[in-house]
Order: sequence, then C-alpha cells, then structure tokens
Amino acid sequence: MECAIGGKLKLLSPSIPSFLNSRRLPWDQLRNKRLTTYKFQIQAQNCFSLEVEVEKGGNLGNFNGESLVWPSPSDEIPFWNKEFPCWDVSSDIPVEVNKDAQLLHIIHVTAEMAPIAKVGGLGDVVTGLARACLLRGHTVDVMLPFYECIIKEQISDLTLITSYNSYHDGSWIPTNAYRGVVSGVAIILIQPTNHFFKGRNVYGGSYNELEAYLFFSRACLEWMQVTGTQPDIIHVHEWQTGALPLLYWDMYHSLSLKKPRIVLTIHNMEHFGECSKEQLDKCGLEGSIYASIDKAVDDRTLGHNPERLSLLKGGIVYSNAVVTVSPSYLKETLCSGWLSSALIKHRDKYIGILNGIDNTIWNPASDVFLPAKFHAQNFEGKKLCKYYVQKGLGLPTGAHVTDMTHKVPLVVCITRLVAQKGLHLIVHAIKRVEELGGQMIVLGKAPDAKVEREFEGLANSYNQGCSIRILLIYSEELSHMLYAAADMVLVPSMYEPCGLSQMIGMRYGAVPVVRKTGGLADTVFDMDDQPNHEMGNGFVFEGIDEASLNWALDRAFLYFVDKPDKWKSIVRKVMELDNSWNNTAGKYVEVYNAIRS
Ligand code: ADP
Repeated sequence: MECAIGGKLKLLSPSIPSFLNSRRLPWDQLRNKRLTTYKFQIQAQNCFSLEVEVEKGGNLGNFNGESLVWPSPSDEIPFWNKEFPCWDVSSDIPVEVNKDAQLLHIIHVTAEMAPIAKVGGLGDVVTGLARACLLRGHTVDVMLPFYECIIKEQISDLTLITSYNSYHDGSWIPTNAYRGVVSGVAIILIQPTNHFFKGRNVYGGSYNELEAYLFFSRACLEWMQVTGTQPDIIHVHEWQTGALPLLYWDMYHSLSLKKPRIVLTIHNMEHFGECSKEQLDKCGLEGSIYASIDKAVDDRTLGHNPERLSLLKGGIVYSNAVVTVSPSYLKETLCSGWLSSALIKHRDKYIGILNGIDNTIWNPASDVFLPAKFHAQNFEGKKLCKYYVQKGLGLPTGAHVTDMTHKVPLVVCITRLVAQKGLHLIVHAIKRVEELGGQMIVLGKAPDAKVEREFEGLANSYNQGCSIRILLIYSEELSHMLYAAADMVLVPSMYEPCGLSQMIGMRYGAVPVVRKTGGLADTVFDMDDQPNHEMGNGFVFEGIDEASLNWALDRAFLYFVDKPDKWKSIVRKVMELDNSWNNTAGKYVEVYNAIRS
C-alpha cells in the first residue's frame, strides 16, 4: 500500500494535533502516537486524494487499508459518483516515443471520442490513436458532433472558431465550429443550429440519425473548405462517416480540397449504414448514381424495389485505405458477411491493424479513480481495490484487506449489453460463478428495451444475494475501479472485431476469460495450450454453448484457488504485456504515408 500512503496530507478537521498540520505525512510520529479517531485526506501522486480515518492506536506505518473510509451500498452517493480530482492525462507523457521522420496532419472525423462522447471502444480508439500520433510528432485534430450531452467542463479552452453554413436537404444550415482540447488532443466540435445531435445520449436522440451523420460528414468537409484546412489525411470511422469519402471525391475534391487522402477504419461490420437513395440526396449527392454494385448498393437489395445503399460499403469503395481492427477480424470479414465481396475486390487496400489501449489513460499506477494504485512489480494495491469495491457493493470480503484465506475470485464483465457480446453466455456465467462460489459484477447498458428488461429482472433477483451484482448503468469511473478490483475479466463475445475490455483488464491485472474470436483470438492465449505454453495469458474457449464457457471458467477458478503462486505469476505477466498504441500506431502511420499525396 505504499503508493496509497506515500503522499501529501490535507487536513479536514481543524482540531487535530499540530504535527499533522504538515504537507508531508510524519509517519514516524504517527506510528508512535496513540491516536483517537481522526479523519483526513491523503493526496497521493498524481493528485489522487482519499479520506483516511486513523483509529485509536492506528498504525499508518503499516497501512493495511483498515484506515480507509470504506464505501457502503447505503451511501447516499454511490462511491463511483463521488467527486474525483481532475486528471490531466496530457501532462503524463511517456518519454521514450521517437518522433516520425515524415510529419503529417491527420484529421479524424468520428461519432465518438473518449471520454466526452464515448459509448464503446470507438471512443477509446480515436482518443488513443490520436494521442499516440501526437506523441510521434504529427498534428492531429478530431472532429465530432457537438452532442448536447457533452459535458463542456471536460473540454479545455472551448472557443467558437467558425460560423458557417452547411447543406442539408435543400437548405444551408447555420453551423458553428468550436475548438477545444480533450486529453491533450485538439478537437473541433460541429454544431448545427437545427435539431440534430440534441438529447441526453450520444446515440438515439429524437432526430433521424442517418440524416444527422450525413449532414455531419458534409459539414466537416465544408468547414475544411471554408477555412482552407487541407490535412494530409482525413481518417473516418464506421458507417456514420462513410459518406465522407463519396462527398470528398465527387464534390469537394473538384472544389478546393486537393491534398487530403482518406482512411476508413471499420470497427464493427454489423452496422453498415443502411440508406435510401433519397436520403443520400439530402446531403447533396445524387443517390441514384451510387446504386450500383461497384459503388454503394447493398448487394442483397440489387434489383429489388426499393434498392438500398450502404454508407459503409460506399466508404470502402471510395477510401484510399480501409483498416479493420484486428488481423483475425480481417480474415473473418473476407470469408463471411455480405460486405466480403466488396472487401475482396478492394483487398489490396484492406488491412488489419490491432487496436491498442492508451497506457496513460488506463494506468493502475496513476489512475485517479482507484482507491489504491498498483503496478506489475507491486500489485498489493489491487487487493485494496477489490476490498473497496466489495464493500461498496455489499459483497462479502475477507476479514481484512490482506486476508489470504479469502479465496473468492471476483469476475467482472464490462460491456454494452447487445447480442454480439454473447448475452446468453453472460447470463450463464452469472449462474456458474455463483455455483463455483465466486463473485461477479456485470456493468453494462442495454440499448434494446427487451434486453434491458431481461437484465433488470436478473438484477432484481441476484442483487439481493451475496455474490452477484448487476449494474445497468454507464460509468467510466466505476469501470476503472472494477478492472482494478477484478481477478478475471469475462468477454464471451459471439464475434469481437478487436475488443478493448480484455486488454484493459490485463493492464489492471485481471486475467481474461474469453471466447476465441476476432481480436480476442489475437490477444488472449490459453494457459493450458501446451505447445504455446509460454504465450499463455488467459483462458480461452471456442464454442458458443454453456459447456464451452464452463470449461474455461472452471479452469480459471481452479488456478485461482489451487495455484496461488501460479496465479500471481499470471497476474504479473498480463500486467507486463504491452498492448498499447505505442506498439501499433506505427502501422497506421505506415498506411498514412503509403497513401498521402
Ligand atoms: P465495443 O466497442 O464493442 O463496445 P470494446 O471492448 O472494444 O467493445 O470497448 C468497450 C469500451 O467501453 C471499454 O472501454 C469498456 O470499458 C467500455 N464500457 C462498456 N460498457 C461500459 C459501461 N457500462 N460503463 C463504462 N464503460 C463501459
């Protein structure tokens, strides 16, 4: 726990002894005093502070977590909603990153960016990749809609920079562009003065989403044209910005934008941006021109009445390079799915690059949301995180933070609750973990009302018990605490283009239990796979049935309970793995360089 106590002291109570009134903790004096109960705040490295209660005779020199003010399920404010210190990740720069020889200007155009507008991995990827390219010396901007739900306080230096008009459905909509900084990355927020992007969530507002993103795609190019901004690369993501390459090559390139080249990253092929010709007309393109097999028609509807277009397919055809988020998902998408014929046709510009995670944003040694910090060389603090979360959610704990007899593994599953994520296996895992005598926490949000009701039902029955907690909310803060508390992170996806949850889990010392698909197959290797034993970093199953999941989960539990030393070495190993963007951003830079004009 030395990281939890090696900090400064900020007094809360005016009546405590004067020796406490010091900027540094006087450990020796504290050790020798017989104290009654005092409450004060510890401010550890990176400005994390926590309230500490020293009991009579308390011994902070042997800080063992007993002196923390433990959260409880009856707290008025849940522990993950408490105020946390602001966290300026931009100042926390790894020193060893080399600058690239050719420096580029890259503009991401995206529907999500963490943490201001994050729903899933797309938001993490945009921020992480942008930050990695910045470190390599490039100029990077991120353009995204100014969703009404964005919390403005999370943006530094927010300033209105341009007021202009952008086309939609026969009129020119007055539009504002704001500049700001998020996690050290320059952002440009596009705010139309109509009803688009209003509402309490990133997605699912009461406006036509497809038309809003068509508008956004054009408004970004319009802004570049109006301001004379000509980046080397416009990097678009997912179907939401799939129309931008069409708009660029068939409209803005013949106007004033000459320099940019376009990269499309597909994070999930399931969402392909179904669009009618008439809807495409609304952004100023002539929809019927794109209704052919070599352009944007959805192959399955060719010759039907009506035919449909796919913005994602249009993006594949019109971009200079197309990336997907893991080598295994690349193979899977070339072999199955209706988009495979377009991808095969454009195989020479289609590449798989494994996502990374941002090692600064996801760092258990400095994470402001954690009650104790830890790292691969000393992960004692992880025990405290587990104890803290158990206390806060009313799960049984050991007698003490360091109680070695408490061998109850904690499994977490942090996910959007959608069919892709293997809902039936998540439900089964809840049952199985309980049978095995473990604990499990599911943190998830279901965009579909039927799924939400199903999980609400489960939460109502299981949350009364003493081993399972199902929390149907989105909380970035809680997700950090759960990864830190977890012994295992479960990702039983039916398909998974890349998956960040297993990588984040590993960074926080949670051993992954995953289904072998897509990026999970590229990042997690089974402990018991004898020929590749040295690669082993988790527990992997292949089938989509319950028995397959049991096989992996049961083995993980056996290791945890029966082989504590081995378990410790796996925890250390997964924490030491480098799944960061520093490893993979270079592959994107190679793609950028290969296509730039
Ligand atoms: P996907 O992009 O399909 O949602 P990923 O595993 O690539 O899946 O990324 C999911 C990201 O979203 C991770 O950062 C994960 O921690 C986060 N996440 C998912 N659900 C929640 C939630 N309910 N609360 C907080 N974070 C969540």
